[in-house]
Amino acid sequence: MAESRTALRCTRETHAAERLREDSLPTETSAEQKKVESSVAVIFNAVKHSRGPFQLVLERDLHAHYLRKGLQHLSDSYECLDASRPWLCYWIVHSLMLLDEPLPVSVASGVCQFLAHCQDPNGGFGGGPGQQPHLAPTYAAVNALCSIGTEEAYNVINRGKLQKFLFSLKQPDGSFNMHGGGEVDVRSAYCAASVASLTNIMTSNLFDGTAEWIARCQFWEGGIGGVPGMEAHGGYTFCGLAALVILKRVHLLDLKSLLRWVAFRQMKFEGGFQGRCNKLVDGCYSFWQAGLMPLLHRTLHAEGDPALSLTNWMFDQQALQEYILLCCQSPTGGLLDKPGKSKDFYHTCYCLSGLSIAQHYGSGEMLQETVVGSPDNLLKPTHPVYNIGPDKVARAIMYFMRKDIPDVTNSSTD
Ligand SMILES: [Zn+2]
Repeated sequence: MAESRTALRCTRETHAAERLREDSLPTETSAEQKKVESSVAVIFNAVKHSRGPFQLVLERDLHAHYLRKGLQHLSDSYECLDASRPWLCYWIVHSLMLLDEPLPVSVASGVCQFLAHCQDPNGGFGGGPGQQPHLAPTYAAVNALCSIGTEEAYNVINRGKLQKFLFSLKQPDGSFNMHGGGEVDVRSAYCAASVASLTNIMTSNLFDGTAEWIARCQFWEGGIGGVPGMEAHGGYTFCGLAALVILKRVHLLDLKSLLRWVAFRQMKFEGGFQGRCNKLVDGCYSFWQAGLMPLLHRTLHAEGDPALSLTNWMFDQQALQEYILLCCQSPTGGLLDKPGKSKDFYHTCYCLSGLSIAQHYGSGEMLQETVVGSPDNLLKPTHPVYNIGPDKVARAIMYFMRKDIPDVTNSSTD
């Protein structure tokens, strides 16, 4: 059941209570916040006072053009992302999927061949050909390949060596290094759990102690920090909760406290999300924060929580859509953090992923759509644990389920 909304609720700027109150104590942080609110208010006001009917439009063709170009050629400004090339593949492939823009067979095959070059002979993927294997590009490469979802894509992944790579990073306390000799944080636990569950290489001891370690990262605020004792942060909270969903140990967390923390990260005035308390709105948290809601909803629903709404996620889905559509679209294609910032593939991916979460409530046959603006703004749904299409997740799991789980105690590499 699709509900199309053409009326905007840009009356938010008239409610002074929704804008920051400094209580006569201006700080550097409050000055920055007021600056952002003013830039957003200019946009909301322009819409409110526009002559004639106004409809919010997702500039699908411009975004698709920007994304397709990025798969073929990147400008010099992307040199700093030389160690993140599998990420660029994932951000672009997933964004095009959300926009329902099919990848030509030859382009998809080219991505598979490139990612094969990024795979280390000893397992895992590096940030580019010949680079040291690292869990972050490994996650991105596996997600990109599963999103492509062809036999060629699946067969790039050396599952036996990937499992060995994961074991090599495992720490006695249950956490994982990001790479050999590298740092430990919640990202690595999620990346490891994500790739292991998609490719059917999980064993009973690979994640021993991991869930308990993640639970120790829940900070007193309610959200999850990078390591035990660190401030709660949207990206780490997503990684921690999604990993615990995969490991089926969500109940180790104080879920009510987590829910309260994330609900308060949606900005009352701007409608988008901030990553941490007292920080500015940023389009990429449309996924990292709003994406927590389907995960929390599912768990609380299973518990039979009577306070749970059965018609929407526990955030303002319309306000988030308005923020993304009004404040995060570059007029030349691509999406961005906030007005005044430049577009990039990371923000394009996570703004679109968050928009998709805000447009779809429920899952499977019970999916309900709430589309702000033109009905054509509707994106494809995304899986809230893996952030690739739900059909792509199901296909990958079915494909790899037919294969044996590798045994790290012998050196077979399938
Ligand atoms: Zn961002």
